[in-house]
Amino acid sequence: MSELTLPDINEAGKRVIKDVKDIQLYIDGAFVDAVNQEQFDNYNPFTNESINRIASGAEADIHKAVKAARKAFKGEWGSLSQNERLSYIYKIADLIDEHIDEIAPLESYDTGLPISQTKKMVARAAHNFRFYAEMVKSRLVGDAYQVDDEFLNYTIHKPVGVAGLITPWNAPFMLETWKIAPALATGNTVVLKPAEWSPLTANRLAEIIDKAGLPDGVFNVVHGYGETAGASLVAHEDVELISFTGETTTGSEIMKNGADTLKRFSMELGGKSPIIVFEDADFERAIDACTWGIFSFNGERCTANSRLYVHEDIASDFIAALKDRVQNIVVGDPMREDTQVGPLIHTKHYESVKSYLELAEQEGCEVISGSIPKEHSRGNFVAPTLLLNADTSMKVVQEEIFGPVIAVMTFKDEAEVIDYANNVRYGLAGYVWTKDLQRGHRVAQAVNSGMLWINSQNVRDLRTPFGGSKHSGIGREGGHYAFEFYTEVQIIHVALGEHRIPQFGKK
Ligand code: NAD
Repeated sequence: MSELTLPDINEAGKRVIKDVKDIQLYIDGAFVDAVNQEQFDNYNPFTNESINRIASGAEADIHKAVKAARKAFKGEWGSLSQNERLSYIYKIADLIDEHIDEIAPLESYDTGLPISQTKKMVARAAHNFRFYAEMVKSRLVGDAYQVDDEFLNYTIHKPVGVAGLITPWNAPFMLETWKIAPALATGNTVVLKPAEWSPLTANRLAEIIDKAGLPDGVFNVVHGYGETAGASLVAHEDVELISFTGETTTGSEIMKNGADTLKRFSMELGGKSPIIVFEDADFERAIDACTWGIFSFNGERCTANSRLYVHEDIASDFIAALKDRVQNIVVGDPMREDTQVGPLIHTKHYESVKSYLELAEQEGCEVISGSIPKEHSRGNFVAPTLLLNADTSMKVVQEEIFGPVIAVMTFKDEAEVIDYANNVRYGLAGYVWTKDLQRGHRVAQAVNSGMLWINSQNVRDLRTPFGGSKHSGIGREGGHYAFEFYTEVQIIHVALGEHRIPQFGKK
């Protein structure tokens, strides 16, 4: 088992990570190089220096991993009792908890997400495993259908087989476990293809799962590029399902590539979610939620409220308060506890977000940005930014920017703001702020989004369905909703009596 270096704490109390070892693939219970021996560089977004080199998996590695996963599914893993299987899931959760102080800094080092936020994500990751162990015990149940005294028909849930999981870089560890936990707890085996820009904690998870002692081949990690490793996983005939989280255009490409092998898909895609603030909203709480909702996770959050619609009666006060917040948000080193916004994941993504700020000016927005401390010029920093005087026709209002950037617009009445809110191709999340209970429900139900919060920021309840409508996704993860995807439902019809059977050809 390869071991990553633990973070040291320096005199200033800051975590310093040194000499992170190169990363291999994890296939059939062993850490191995890619078949073609290729590697790619992994960069630290705070300095843009290379952290380490990552084995670059491709078709041959995917083939090995799927073969191992298939063997485990048909062999040892498939023959365990539910209790035996779930004991491994609890073990993984315990091991993650034991290593929070090490995994969270690694995640911040790799992604630029502030350490105060990655600590919460890692704790959530352990909870994901425990939660799904409990869910399988209590909610993975069938239905029974009685037909008088003639039939008793009942359903059972069976694992599907090899699950291909493809994940993004924006909250890597948490999102990976959000898929791995239900996939394994329901009895599938897994091949994970993590995002190429954030491989460190996926490797740490492979080390943890190795330590938990799962049978070989139950869990495999193939690092590599989307177009090679990812595409081979999607096209593989022995992979029964693909759970994908990432950009909408990638999701559509994946569905095309999986069509020939009739893949089952779960798609968690992009967003451009509205926050609607009525004139009677709790002003201070709405400001808190609005700033947190767009600037936490460095703005790289799928459910970020990236479009603000504020009622014209309170717009000038609300915008003044936002300007004040933007100036005071602590932008800095992701390894420091007091940092609120860190650097974006990669120079390519940084260029993309910056190009949207230029576009916003060309489209007629007033662009108001906070500041970045001079000493951080090497990192991929974009300061928290407001796009004032925006309107629905602009690209910066229609397209997902995925950075710390919020488009600010005003509205006059309820009907108008519902139209504005729904006038994008995405439909992931929405937020409504009002003290009028009836209006809150009315507007919430009229907004076309998979998830909606009234008088709250995005607070997850793991039991509830997570996912988007329109171009933001297909299907739901979370709670028992994940069972529809990760299990095959079989109906068994049992004749209890002597029901009539047609007697063709009988004389
Ligand atoms: P991305 O689509 O570029 O990549 C996601 C993953 O897909 C990566 O592992 C990548 O290597 C892989 N991939 C790329 N091309 C592929 C192909 N042709 N075949 C198979 N795999 C391929 O997304 P990203 O930039 O990593 O993540 C940001 C996006 O994810 C944003 O759009 C964000 O909104 C979305 N996201 C959505 C949710 C949600 O729950 N709806 C959650 C987090 C992020």
